Amino acid sequence: MFGTAFSQLRYGLAILRNRRIRPQDLERIARDLVTTLAEFGEPGADSALLPGQAGAIDPAVRRTVTERSLRATARAAARHTPYYRRAFDRLGLDPVTLTPETWDQVPVTSKSALRGLPAAFVSAASVPALMALTTGTSGTPTTVWYSRAEVETAVAMSTVSAVLGLGLRPRHTMAYAGCSRATLPLLNVEESVTRIGASFVQIGTVDPAVALDRLAAPLGLRGKAPQITHLTISASYLSALVEEVERSGWRPSDFGLEFIGVGGEVLSEPLKERAAAAMGARISTTYMMTETLPSGGTSCTEGHLHHTTEFGHLEVLDPVTHEPTPPGGVGTIVQTPYVPYRDCTLLLRYATGDLVRRPEAEPECELSHLPATSPVLGRWSGPLSRSVPTRSVLDLLEAEPDIPLPARYVLEEGRQGPSLHVLVRRLPGTALLGRLEDRATAAGLALAAIVLHDDPAGLPPTGPVRADLREHTFESARPVAVRVASPA
Ligand SMILES: [Zn+2]
Repeated sequence: MFGTAFSQLRYGLAILRNRRIRPQDLERIARDLVTTLAEFGEPGADSALLPGQAGAIDPAVRRTVTERSLRATARAAARHTPYYRRAFDRLGLDPVTLTPETWDQVPVTSKSALRGLPAAFVSAASVPALMALTTGTSGTPTTVWYSRAEVETAVAMSTVSAVLGLGLRPRHTMAYAGCSRATLPLLNVEESVTRIGASFVQIGTVDPAVALDRLAAPLGLRGKAPQITHLTISASYLSALVEEVERSGWRPSDFGLEFIGVGGEVLSEPLKERAAAAMGARISTTYMMTETLPSGGTSCTEGHLHHTTEFGHLEVLDPVTHEPTPPGGVGTIVQTPYVPYRDCTLLLRYATGDLVRRPEAEPECELSHLPATSPVLGRWSGPLSRSVPTRSVLDLLEAEPDIPLPARYVLEEGRQGPSLHVLVRRLPGTALLGRLEDRATAAGLALAAIVLHDDPAGLPPTGPVRADLREHTFESARPVAVRVASPA
């Protein structure tokens, strides 16, 4: 308990005295938090000092900390990575003279640059230990090398946020339903959950019927809640589970779920409400990226996405011109994850492609000391992705029970404007079409037409979603296997 208080104090002082929090401080905070939990069952009341939950900080102090972090990160990148050494030499830029005001002299790094040559971003001063791959639903997967120290920082951050953010306790069981090949998130969740003393179940992205069976199964473990209590999942695979729950008549009381954490894809409001009703759990979403961990975003009660300032620098820029997006405008998130939390793959002004709207005015909410944007609206892929963003389409489609989940749709640019092609359960569905048209108009979506299809073969090719990373299990194949194995 004293240990925790001491570390928290250190953290508070590090910020107030304009000192950097060292990665080992993060690990100590996480370790002390686990010890406090084991001893007292709850974290200390002073936990508001912990990362991501720090109170208001003097703007002048914050500016100095930002400047120092930007310079240190730029210096490390220019000195130790081939990509930025060349970029800084070419521009004649001296990293140690950069300020938050002149930071825009550093060129924006595109996803394709990292994807094309991941090793050019790896620091010669680090030891690459783990190759993390993005899922690549929006194109070729991106490789991001992690050092052992970075993995440990990520686990420490994840432990702290699981205890304080999710309220994870030793009596809980966390299931992970993301893709089993996503090594970094899988390792991160497993390691932080079991450090807390909670238990961990790997489900993977399997047949939804199999996943629901596993979620509903009694655990029968002494000292543990009777069933799985927490679930980590992508939005599209959650929608596939909701479809199966509604189709097969599962009731919320069949599950012991308390909390579902959704990440990696846009979670629409109607899906959030349907999933909460179907599975009887509180649902929350966070924003994290393999490339920019441990920087990330948390939602507040007002529906903003708030971004951490301790671990990286956030900019919202126009996806084409890279000019700053004005308040009220839509731009893409450009992130600079700071050293020493990142020491292997170093990225400066990394264009994530994730579209967000900047708020019109300074938000007044419990997280107003952290920079705010809207939740992620979608991924930039051209002007249509900004005028009709993924979130608006999913808000429209995922509210309709006649549209099977995950929603399959495609936007096609035509002479009159974009048409939205949607897969529905059955035609004619004129009532559905009228309702969709009315709701699209009310939402201000600039669509020339909505076209319904009840045959997937007639639908233009749609983009993949994470629920499509389906893993085979023997459970789904059992009827066939039993038939083959039975003696005649
Ligand atoms: Zn807020």
